[in-house]
Amino acid sequence: MGEPEGKLAVLNRVMRIPPRAIELLERAEKEMILFLNVRVDDRTVITADAFVVYHNTARGPAKGGIRFAPNLTLSEVRDLAERMTWKTALTGIPFGGGKSGIAVDPKSLTPYAKREIMREFVHLIRSELVTGSYIPAPDLGTGPREMAVIYGELHIPECVTGKPVAVGGVPGRREATGRGVATAARLAAQRMLGKEISECTVAIQGFGNVGSWTARFLSSMGAKVVAISDSKGGAFDGDGLDVEELSKHKAETGSVVGFAEEISNEELLSLDVDILIPAAVEGVLREGNAGDVRAKLIVEGANGPTTPEGDEILRERGIPVIPDILANSGGVIASYIEWRSAKSGSITSASEVYGTIDERIKLAFERMAKLSEERGISYRDAAMAIAVGEVVRAMEERGWI
Ligand code: NAD
Repeated sequence: MGEPEGKLAVLNRVMRIPPRAIELLERAEKEMILFLNVRVDDRTVITADAFVVYHNTARGPAKGGIRFAPNLTLSEVRDLAERMTWKTALTGIPFGGGKSGIAVDPKSLTPYAKREIMREFVHLIRSELVTGSYIPAPDLGTGPREMAVIYGELHIPECVTGKPVAVGGVPGRREATGRGVATAARLAAQRMLGKEISECTVAIQGFGNVGSWTARFLSSMGAKVVAISDSKGGAFDGDGLDVEELSKHKAETGSVVGFAEEISNEELLSLDVDILIPAAVEGVLREGNAGDVRAKLIVEGANGPTTPEGDEILRERGIPVIPDILANSGGVIASYIEWRSAKSGSITSASEVYGTIDERIKLAFERMAKLSEERGISYRDAAMAIAVGEVVRAMEERGWI
């Protein structure tokens, strides 16, 4: 067999990946394309494509959220499933990578319709859920209520995570991803900027689940959050925004716009701050604007906020990027705690959840930083090398390669 090709082959600069492993990892292990047909009232039948992808399950069952999005495609679900493989491997969580989604606009659905769609989805993939082969969680467009529907259909506490606390969810799950992003930013500031987080200025794109909790935790750590945006625009205050007051403003008006000096999303991305946190959507740091970034450090709160072209520009400019597979892994770490508690019947506190997130992210961060410094490679390549190494080891142990 000759030199392998494809996106993982690039890691051969850093590590030797057996060609057979590359072959297995460059495609998803299992993909399901389903067609949903759900009656939601006397006059309305909703039809939609649904996808379930297991990228790799060598290290454990497929773990990953359920996304509701109008233009969802199989390739988007495939990409997200793969990220879950690396995220769980890097942080040492005993799960594989999976993801699922339904191509519907969640904003157009009544709560009843959403519930009926979830119930139908459970019926279609029932055996995957009952056997624990796929363990879903919330993603864009879904939340604890939808997870409660899954539990309600199956009555198996460990078959789904991200449930409401009243239905077996763990406290701290809602804020878990933001907690992890803030912890990753704190560690990166110390190591890469030689500064305490309390001495840093921060700009955050996105004020949804990830962005708002990241902002709250960073503020409580003493960081100065000078800019925050959402899909409608942003708010800027060089003296630091009051995140709690901003949350109230957003709850009242539907946006962060109007709370302080107005700033566009593009302007936010090029602010002169210590840390820039894209925590909204994918592909925002790209060829056309990566050259304008003035932040000294980027911490990826969203999945895939930097395009490969943008990444290359940031690398050439010497701006470190803490990759999503590390920075936003807090959610899946909390999911692991919920799954473990459900299996054992134990009770978990929010402080235990935060403690485990901080500990797992710190361990992974130190491994990543050490490898990056030793080998002179980017943090992203180092994180990927560690994650791929863990998955390859599992595949070897299982006799897959
Ligand atoms: P969310 O829907 O709660 O919030 C998204 C935020 O981004 C909102 O404030 C929205 O107004 C803003 N936004 C949307 N489009 C925008 C645009 N074009 N420009 C600027 N802002 C825009 O979503 P979330 O759960 O916070 O997820 C954000 C990202 O983090 C996604 O990439 C998601 O996959 C990823 N992520 C989420 C979790 C989690 O636990 N929620 C875990 C890991 C990764």
